[in-house]
Order: sequence, then C-alpha cells, then structure tokens
Amino acid sequence: MSEKMNGVLITAPLFGVGKETVGCFTGYDCTCCNGNGYVLDPEIITERVKKPCPQCGGTGKLKGIVTVEWIPDGEVRPYFKGKEEI
Ligand SMILES: [Zn+2]
Repeated sequence: MSEKMNGVLITAPLFGVGKETVGCFTGYDCTCCNGNGYVLDPEIITERVKKPCPQCGGTGKLKGIVTVEWIPDGEVRPYFKGKEEI
C-alpha cells in the first residue's frame, strides 16, 4: 500500500544559531472535529446545534508549521576550559 508522507531534511544553516522556519504542511483533517469544522453544542441536548470547532476555528483543517531551533551542541572545546581560573 502506498502512503504519502511529509518529511523534513535539516542541515545546519549559514547563520549559525537561531530559529529557522523550515516549512508549512497544509491539508490535515482536524482531529478534534474529524474534518467537519464543527462540534455539537453539549449544552443543548434537545437538538443538534453546531458550534465552530475550537481547535480548527471552523475550517476542518490543520496545518503544521515546522520550526527548527539551532543551539550550541556538546561540550566546550578543551582549550577554552579553565581560562577563568588563571
Ligand atoms: Zn476542528
């Protein structure tokens, strides 16, 4: 069975550390309302009153914005260590 997948391949950016927006993935069905865009009002049990979904705002869809935060990794190099003690 074939499956369409979205993925992100990251490489260290030229600017060094900081935040980088990698991409935006659209068209996912909202999992709160199953893509309908509405939920039934639980306050009114006598009839089916539709309220805009609080998660997707009534669109029925969600999108994922992928942001990568680049920060220093690992230990400081040995030749920078202990200089404050001198
Ligand atoms: Zn929704």
